[in-house]
Amino acid sequence: MAFVLSVATVFGALLQPITVSPSVDATQLRPAAVQRAQLDDSARPASRLRSARPALGRRTEDFCMMAGSDKTVMILFGPPGAGKGSQAPKIVDKLNIPQLSTGDMLRAAVAAGSEVGKKAKDVMASGGLVSDELVVSIIRERIKEDDCSGGFILDGFPRTVEQAKMLDEMLDGSGDKVSLVLALEVPDEVLTERICGRWVHKDSGRSYHVKFATPKSLTEGATPSVETMLDDETGEPLMQRADDTEEALGKRLQGYHEQTVPILDHYEPAGVVSRLNANIAPDEVWTSIDKVLPA
Ligand code: AMP
Repeated sequence: MAFVLSVATVFGALLQPITVSPSVDATQLRPAAVQRAQLDDSARPASRLRSARPALGRRTEDFCMMAGSDKTVMILFGPPGAGKGSQAPKIVDKLNIPQLSTGDMLRAAVAAGSEVGKKAKDVMASGGLVSDELVVSIIRERIKEDDCSGGFILDGFPRTVEQAKMLDEMLDGSGDKVSLVLALEVPDEVLTERICGRWVHKDSGRSYHVKFATPKSLTEGATPSVETMLDDETGEPLMQRADDTEEALGKRLQGYHEQTVPILDHYEPAGVVSRLNANIAPDEVWTSIDKVLPA
């Protein structure tokens, strides 16, 4: 309880830099958001684009997309590196509702050195999950903002069935419910290659990949390092996300399969889950997504 209260007390500090409401300097959110979008695009393994695994479960064509509520409460679901970050801006554009990424919010908190950031930093770097109470509290506050009144897209949340239940309860309070769970599916081995090769220019969010989007500084045969991985525009060193290591990714994927995937079973009975093959070119993924979004 004390922890939850302490979370509440730091919301002011946490939410200011991360919210996208008009009263706030939204540019502070940009680097992380841009980073995610670009990373997912650039990290796409071109060689695998055509070796698509068939999508499982319900197909886009027979998917019933709304659960009865007017508000679109969408969960953008998928493992790290599935392309959520690159598809989200297009969904935001089409639906005109904000994307709420708990990962971006937490990274902003870590960068700001807030109390929440201090609590989350180490567990995030190791690839573990921060507490349900912490992320639920963050989302609870965020969805009170005006820009969420018409709906919102949850990215990276819920991550556990417990979080999903807490979300349902929260939504129930305002007569809302999850209307769409869009699950992007990509095999683990592809994710490892996508994630572990990505490097980013911290200030601009420009992203690169050691194999699929190399910076000019990485000459053929050279080993990727802070000396050889430099931003094309500024020449500054690129960096890797603290949790984009093979070790942390292993833990993230294990957590995803054990704790996050069961969320789909939780929402399946409501008929709101749509599973899409995301091991194809981003444009093709978008075409599938577009078909299941509310008009
Ligand atoms: P992401 O950018 O979504 O991959 O999130 C990065 C990290 O933030 C995760 O590996 C977790 O440590 C933490 N995180 C983000 N969202 C959640 C959540 N809903 N529950 C617990 N931890 C989270």
